[in-house]
Amino acid sequence: MLVYKGNIIKLQRAVQEHQKRAQKAYGEVFGTKKARLLEQLAGDLLDERSFPDLVQSEGGTNHLAVGTLPYTDFRIDVDGSFRAGMICVTAFFKISEEGLKNSKTQPPYIGSFIHEFNHFAAFALARKPSIVYSSLLASECAGVHLGSTIEVMKYLKKIATETTAENRDDQARKVRLVCNAYMCWNVEEKIARLIDYLVFNKMGYRVDAPDWLGQKKKYGRISIAPPLAMIIQIPVGGDPFLELNKKPKDMVTDILEWQKYIRFGEPFATKALECYLECDIRKMKFSAIEKLDSI
Ligand SMILES: [Zn+2]
Repeated sequence: MLVYKGNIIKLQRAVQEHQKRAQKAYGEVFGTKKARLLEQLAGDLLDERSFPDLVQSEGGTNHLAVGTLPYTDFRIDVDGSFRAGMICVTAFFKISEEGLKNSKTQPPYIGSFIHEFNHFAAFALARKPSIVYSSLLASECAGVHLGSTIEVMKYLKKIATETTAENRDDQARKVRLVCNAYMCWNVEEKIARLIDYLVFNKMGYRVDAPDWLGQKKKYGRISIAPPLAMIIQIPVGGDPFLELNKKPKDMVTDILEWQKYIRFGEPFATKALECYLECDIRKMKFSAIEKLDSI
């Protein structure tokens, strides 16, 4: 079930040790059919290149990244629209020994890998993965780091200060892209945390339910200074799947269809999501995308 093809020997051993328990746990959490499909997809979509060796400076925190290769003239317009087309994607693990040691995810060490594997599970099993959408939106805003609220705020401030009368529309577009990418990243993280909670407990680790489960959605407002002069609402907490009103164990299939439950409430966001859902998302191995990219 768990697939790791990287070079960290200690992690190879830990994965082997946990394999049996993981197999059983994923079967119980996702149901036999879906767990089998996940196992097959992990075999089909992950190769050695999906677990790159990281240079020291890239270590620190582990995460699952996606590489997107959209059709040639992919561009999101000022109103959020883009042409529906084929988008090739691959998921790869950014994992380092340092990241495994530093992670606060419980259980220690293997927990951090399984968390990233759960991001992969959501990517592999969803028809329109949230991680791909988030990454597409952010792909037009070079240098933004969605994993940290502080970094996102810094980026928005930078856009505001670099705005002139000439680039105003494009800067406003970037603000909307980043805010939507961040919102979606937030949902993606919660999907993985919910799967973590279910899987870890089935594996025999006592892990608490995420504290946002069942909590009312909370939004914060960001004001962007003139000349942009925008007010953007972003989620700061709460349960994105509150309206499901289900127990965590019954939510697994629904959360893979995240697009039905998130409300961005802005025309730009609604349009962009609509266009994404019309795209043909082709998941591939890292090495297959590399070949396409070099054509
Ligand atoms: Zn995560």
